[in-house]
Amino acid sequence: MTLGIVGAGQLGRMMALAGYPLGLDFLFLDKDAKTPGGQVAPLLAGELTDRKLLGELSRRCEVITFDWENIPVEALENLPGAARISPPLRALAAAQDRLAEKRTFELLGVPTTRYASVSSRAELDAAIKRIGLPGVLKTRRLGYDGKGQAVLRTPADVGAAWDKLGAQPLLYENLVPFDGEVSIIGVRGRDGEVAFYPLNLNVHRAGILRLTRAPHGNPTLTRAAQKCARRIMEHFDYVGVLTIEFFVQRGKLIANEMAPRVHNSGHWTIEGADTSQFENHVRAVAGMPLGSTRARGYSAMINLVGELPDRASLLAEPGLHWHDYGKSSRPDRKLGHITLCEPSVRLRDKLAFRVLSRTDRATWLAIR
Ligand code: AMP
Repeated sequence: MTLGIVGAGQLGRMMALAGYPLGLDFLFLDKDAKTPGGQVAPLLAGELTDRKLLGELSRRCEVITFDWENIPVEALENLPGAARISPPLRALAAAQDRLAEKRTFELLGVPTTRYASVSSRAELDAAIKRIGLPGVLKTRRLGYDGKGQAVLRTPADVGAAWDKLGAQPLLYENLVPFDGEVSIIGVRGRDGEVAFYPLNLNVHRAGILRLTRAPHGNPTLTRAAQKCARRIMEHFDYVGVLTIEFFVQRGKLIANEMAPRVHNSGHWTIEGADTSQFENHVRAVAGMPLGSTRARGYSAMINLVGELPDRASLLAEPGLHWHDYGKSSRPDRKLGHITLCEPSVRLRDKLAFRVLSRTDRATWLAIR
């Protein structure tokens, strides 16, 4: 069976690497073979929205899935081939637009921020009046890793934020003074079977995920997050991995956003769980039974952002796993990650903080 993957970034690459042992083949669509996915599997070179290439992908593959969820849904509708598309386009459409996403959360009783749609300066002023300051102004589409966002703390910030972002449809929401950020990763098979990984505790800096630790041991919070993810998956008759990111404030969850795909906060599952999120996504979309999501210990995942640190000295740490996505260096670009898995929280945190102090001093200083 061949799986077509739209987008050949590191997520696609890790899906292919997880799927080969299952006997699956892969075909990517992305701009060139130098992409992380293109380095490990054949690739159709072109725009992700190219109908001709999407048609070819649909003819040559049994299933089409995604490394990147922001392909306009119209480009994926009524393709000439017979490939199934998983996750479903309705879920993609909801996750692509922050307004549709908030409405989905509301519809399904998933607690989220207070928000307003903003398409003019007058609407922004009205939104601030209703929701208050501080708040965050975000582009409705194509925001990731904190891009397309501005934090508004005082009335003096409003003009500059509008000048920066006002040309596109926007969403304004309250700035949550959170105690922490967590994410839940669920997977749903074609037959409706559902499984969840334990909760992830995430640290972002400048909008980019820097550190994930899991399992995050709060059973009440885990159950609440699973309930939200289950509702969303059932609502969309979802197939594949789904991630929801939450703020935690005074022990309560507030949904920030969802991703209809494998997620950076689940990279630890490659070494730290019985079956990785990548393998389970591939199993789900290929119609195979899901694998166990049990954690094998206490894991940490540290993102390598901007430039790779010295590999040899870090690999000298026993139990450290190195993932290089094969990308060139650029500020704020995710180039790889490190995973470690230890038998206790104490040992995991000790090693994770030691590694973080060497790979990402600013985050280490902020949280030590
Ligand atoms: P996003 O791209 O929406 O996931 O935002 C990236 C990061 O910015 C989040 O993980 C938070 O750390 C921060 N952030 C975004 N929106 C808010 C908000 N409404 N309140 C507090 N922090 C936020």
